[in-house]
Amino acid sequence: MNDQPRPATRKIPAPAINNESRPFWDAAREGRFLIKRCRACGRAHWYPRLSCPFCFSDVTMWEASAGEGAIYTFSVMRRTDGPSYAIGYVTLDEGPAMLTNFVDCDLEALEIGQRVRLRFQETEGGPPVPVFAPA
Ligand SMILES: [Zn+2]
Repeated sequence: MNDQPRPATRKIPAPAINNESRPFWDAAREGRFLIKRCRACGRAHWYPRLSCPFCFSDVTMWEASAGEGAIYTFSVMRRTDGPSYAIGYVTLDEGPAMLTNFVDCDLEALEIGQRVRLRFQETEGGPPVPVFAPA
């Protein structure tokens, strides 16, 4: 940790919700982070969908993720008209990679491979969305 001021939090619009993702957002409202796992091939995937993206089986189940992983890649968006922010991919310990926002971090200190932990961030009028902060 250092003494640098943290960037202001960027407002995130409400996510689009459909029947495939509704259980995910219902759980998110309760602070639980769900991913899906295929019962045919055993692999976990993100984002939640009806059919497994690896083997196309439609026998998938929800499971709670620990919400821990490592930064696979990231990009810092420098803004002059608002807070700068970082987006990128996190590889969850369960296997899937997910596109996400990084919060509560020093944008200059983010590193590929850095351990991060999920938290939920409020959106404008919708359920909270998963974001990541340094672990
Ligand atoms: Zn599968």
